Amino acid sequence: MINTKATSRITPDVKKALIEIVGDRAYLDSPNERYVHSYDATPLYQHMPDAVMNPQNTEQISAILKIANAHQIPIIPRGSGTNLAGGTIPIEGGIVLNMNRFNEIYEIDEQNLTATLGPGVITADLHEAVEAVGLFYPPDPGSMRISTIGGNMAQCAGGMRGLKYGVTKDYIMGLEYVLPSGEILRSGGKNVKDVAGYDMTRLLVGSEGTLAVITEITVKLVPLPETKRTLVAYYNNLVDAARTVEKIIAAKVIPATMEFLDQGTMQVVDDYAKLGLPLEMKSMLLIEQDGEEEAVVRDIQRIAEIARQQGAERVEIASTLAEGAKLMAARRAALSALSRSKPTTIMEDATVPRSRLAEMVETVERVAEKYHLWICTFGHAGDGNLHPTCMTDERDQEEMQRVEQAFDEIFRSAIELGGTITGEHGVGLAKMNYLHLKVGAGGIELMKQIKAAFDPNHIMNPGKMFAGSERRRLVVKR
Ligand SMILES: Cc1cc2nc3c(=O)[nH]c(=O)nc-3n(C[C@H](O)[C@H](O)[C@H](O)COP(=O)(O)OP(=O)(O)OC[C@H]3O[C@@H](n4cnc5c(N)ncnc54)[C@H](O)[C@@H]3O)c2cc1C
Repeated sequence: MINTKATSRITPDVKKALIEIVGDRAYLDSPNERYVHSYDATPLYQHMPDAVMNPQNTEQISAILKIANAHQIPIIPRGSGTNLAGGTIPIEGGIVLNMNRFNEIYEIDEQNLTATLGPGVITADLHEAVEAVGLFYPPDPGSMRISTIGGNMAQCAGGMRGLKYGVTKDYIMGLEYVLPSGEILRSGGKNVKDVAGYDMTRLLVGSEGTLAVITEITVKLVPLPETKRTLVAYYNNLVDAARTVEKIIAAKVIPATMEFLDQGTMQVVDDYAKLGLPLEMKSMLLIEQDGEEEAVVRDIQRIAEIARQQGAERVEIASTLAEGAKLMAARRAALSALSRSKPTTIMEDATVPRSRLAEMVETVERVAEKYHLWICTFGHAGDGNLHPTCMTDERDQEEMQRVEQAFDEIFRSAIELGGTITGEHGVGLAKMNYLHLKVGAGGIELMKQIKAAFDPNHIMNPGKMFAGSERRRLVVKR
């Protein structure tokens, strides 16, 4: 049973003061509204907030935070709730602060190559707006048609174009943010060079709503590539595909995208998108290059040559842009396609240096076999960023124990291979008990001190990142 009673530190007087800030239509505390905001895209976690607020400007946020800080009410900033780390679960109740009314692109500056926008702008809307004037915002998480730029920034989202273009942190130039005290601050801006003091922008990127509420973002833009081509290579084992990735980079060719799908993922994606993939193959690489026509053609031919040398059974170059786009769209649908197979889909994010990709892929296979689990692996092979995804059923407690053990082994192997526990999905609730493996006890202590400097009363997204001492993955809070 989910607790629908408002428990909270939101007394009638506090509620009245909050409604005065945003109006009663932007303060919601019915059981239905609270329920809708009690979960996000992460399986296994749920907890009711006490209220949901939909502010529309920075001053309102400042006023809300002042009250929340005085009464120690948790604040959970929320974009579209597509994160996969339990990052917007109101695990300690409090107020979910929806940022989706901050959905305006204020400026596209074609001279400085920047865009300034509200954090509630949908990622794909930014893409479309800048591409209309010949510019390009490369970060492209698979969720880009739903996710917000604020969520991308707070998670430091990656995507398929990370290999050549980098990830969200490489494009955030400036921020406006509100501290829990209500103070409104700015960091960075349009300057390409700016070393005045600590780099607060970089610190806030990936801070997962635990330090401040971001109310305005300035991003860097680059010229839109002239054209692109897509290539698919099919292999009858996993290791040749992983080696192809290493050899392409070693040949100093940097594709825009280099995605890996194992046989299990190919099967469900094909069933979902009806692509006619050769399902007898054990793995495939989906590679896209962009840039000037001549360079793209040259790179794609070189990539095809390397793929064949490394044992690809079939190499196909998409004949049209539409054909290439269809393949990329199918890859973006991998998680949705896998999700149809079983009641619970747990997607992880273990990442290794790309030179260790083959070993990591083999480890995941071995672990799946050892624990008798259905784990499919796909991911951003060019970044060494794999998404081993387990199709399971959370009602089967015995199987869930094995899932737990399997992922534990996968994360530890990633660290042993010089990798990390999360390449792009963040820590949130899901990974907080593994953070010490990557940053050590000293690193966690320093982060806690930084958190205390921003948020001495611990109201910002409490219970996330490093709050727990035990693994919380399987604790379904209801
Ligand atoms: C199908 C699917 C595919 C995905 N593919 C990718 C992928 O390829 N790469 C990738 O990196 N991720 C991917 N994700 C994960 C997710 O989409 C990203 O993490 C995304 O950045 C979350 O954006 P959001 O708007 O949904 O943020 P939310 O989930 O609402 O919030 C994410 C975090 O940001 C904080 N936050 C949100 N807005 C603000 C703000 N204004 N100020 C301060 N903190 C804020 C929240 O508190 C939370 O901690 C995928 C998810 C799905 C469901």
